Amino acid sequence: MNGDGKKILVVGGAGYIGSHMVKLLCLQGYDVVTVDSLVNGHREAITGGEFVQGDLEDRDFLARLFASHRFDCVMHFASFIQVGESVTDPAIYYRNNLINTQNLLEAMTASGTMNLIFSSSAAIFGEPEKTPIDEDHPKAPVNPYGRTKLMTEEILADFGHAYGLRSVSLRYFNAAGADPEGELGERHDPETHLIPLVLQAASGRGPEVRVFGRDHATPDGTCVRDYIHVNDLCRAHILAMEKLWRSGESRAYNLGNGSGFSVQEVIETARKVTGRDIRVVDAPRRDGDCAVLVADSSRAGEELSWSPEFPELETIITHAWNFEKRMCSR
Ligand code: NAD
Repeated sequence: MNGDGKKILVVGGAGYIGSHMVKLLCLQGYDVVTVDSLVNGHREAITGGEFVQGDLEDRDFLARLFASHRFDCVMHFASFIQVGESVTDPAIYYRNNLINTQNLLEAMTASGTMNLIFSSSAAIFGEPEKTPIDEDHPKAPVNPYGRTKLMTEEILADFGHAYGLRSVSLRYFNAAGADPEGELGERHDPETHLIPLVLQAASGRGPEVRVFGRDHATPDGTCVRDYIHVNDLCRAHILAMEKLWRSGESRAYNLGNGSGFSVQEVIETARKVTGRDIRVVDAPRRDGDCAVLVADSSRAGEELSWSPEFPELETIITHAWNFEKRMCSR
């Protein structure tokens, strides 16, 4: 127990990654308050601490929240996350991911709450010029979702200079897997992420899997992505928070497995793990899909002493499958 009763606000803690974060923080002895509007989250995914339903668009709610609690750190997971939807309806992305985030930052700084861990994304980099992608790689997001994440990082830097806000931006690549105890997992609606889609096809809860292009510049022609276990992401949050408390220095880290897996490898590994047939249909390439997206996470290794505990694709898929079976039996 290293939490020592420190009080952590988890915004978006009823969602996929946030719910795993709440569980880990509680296990480590932190005093956790979860805020979530439940627009995309699930009440039953919050397994510990206090829950307050509220929306970041509500500035009065935020003022009351920060007046009634003193938080040692805020972890901010709350945003909309669908890249395709951000292209067809950018307004809701700029409103929720940027304006509502600014509401949170203003409420924090007004109350003297100065430590933030922010869920950023590999989407800030856009089309990679080189791979693996380190923190200094040029940032040229190709969709509104990625732009909201990059703009938020820029706002954080400005709030740091002007008001003394200290922040760590964690740029996740593809969050994947599930709670090793099978209690929590990925429940997006609609689901757009490959591993849950493949497992829903295996369980019969979802349709066949579409493979977008087999002519990419990769060994088997399908896109290669960097799948990082959700619990490894959560461990990185705690290490980043503890370093922020020690050093007071704002930083950004890329978080990935360091090794990419192709769509075809994911499907084959899922067939092995589940023992099920997984129906696949080939579809044309999607606009903007780059061949390979893999993180260079060496800065997180050097500065946070972080490395993935569950780097194997088979383990990631096994944990996600345990959760999918649980969903089927509900
Ligand atoms: P999620 O949709 O499962 O969780 C987000 C949570 O935030 C939901 O519970 C939702 O109800 C809540 N929320 C949204 N807007 C809110 C608001 N205005 N006020 C209060 N609550 C609100 O998403 P996730 O997959 O857990 O992603 C968490 C964060 O990580 C997001 O910021 C996302 O952009 C980032 N991220 C995720 C991935 C990934 O692979 N899942 C990759 C890179 C970055």
